[in-house]
Amino acid sequence: MATVIDGKAIAAKIRGELTAEVAALNAQGVTPGLAVVLVGEDPASKVYVSMKEKACADVGIFSDEHKLSADTTEAELLALIDRLNNDARIHGILVQLPLPKQINTEKVLEAISPAKDVDGFHPYNVGRLMVGKPTFQPCTPYGVMIMLKESGVELAGKNVVVVGRSNIVGKPVAMMCLQQHATVTICHSRTRNLADVVRAADVVIAAVGVPEMIKGDWIKEGAIVIDVGVNRVGEKKLVGDVEYAAAAERAAAITPVPGGVGPMTITMLLYNTVASAKQFR
Ligand code: NAP
Repeated sequence: MATVIDGKAIAAKIRGELTAEVAALNAQGVTPGLAVVLVGEDPASKVYVSMKEKACADVGIFSDEHKLSADTTEAELLALIDRLNNDARIHGILVQLPLPKQINTEKVLEAISPAKDVDGFHPYNVGRLMVGKPTFQPCTPYGVMIMLKESGVELAGKNVVVVGRSNIVGKPVAMMCLQQHATVTICHSRTRNLADVVRAADVVIAAVGVPEMIKGDWIKEGAIVIDVGVNRVGEKKLVGDVEYAAAAERAAAITPVPGGVGPMTITMLLYNTVASAKQFR
């Protein structure tokens, strides 16, 4: 049976370290500040935003909340971002997605100062990731990389198969693995013979959004499986993109859902905010 990669435990360890770093910054007169902007009433977004606010409070980050009505105009949102870009108390700006239809998401993300782009979505930071320069790394893929490192997985020379090519998970995690000298294959909805491609993987990173579509018998004996997927099945149950029980019989290590990648995402947001505060110090 596979070792379970415990995202909760890794996240708790990092949050403990961040709490100490925030205390050290406080002693120098700096309190890391994260502005969280929510536009509208999307129930899932509201839950994410309140989780982020609580996580900030737990490690001592000042969270500056901006809850705007669903009819907020693009100009109003851009004006708020401009104020936050120039607010010395704020080291990170997070705009919760999705935004209402009347607002151009790309324009908003590009208005955030790259120096405060703790989500790592600004094209400037995406470009720096691409060319291997230090940057704010997007939180979910960054969390995946930390989990691999904490689990002692050496990527150099390994075959990594990423299933999913989104800008927030698939593409950046593939780039990060490439930087660690893995041989990376990125799969998507038009990939032919997906099962065979996955069967060749030493490391599988699943970011698809389809419940348990990656079957246990696609997993090579001894492979590492990172399941980014979070899919609600029925009223309460959450499952990943990988058929967990069957995959765990073949993998050397696997992340559970929930309790795997999920807790790492907000943790890396806190990490990026503290890193930003250190730079502004
Ligand atoms: P997304 O933007 O919907 O992208 C999904 C990707 O999967 C696309 O590239 C799509 O291919 C590919 N895909 C869809 N069906 C496929 C199939 N049958 N075979 C092969 N590839 C297929 O999703 P995302 O935002 O990256 O999120 C992926 C999953 O991760 C979701 O379950 C999401 O909830 C979860 N997630 C979790 C966290 C966390 O903190 N744990 C954070 C972010 C996302 P095409 O490009 O060809 O359409």
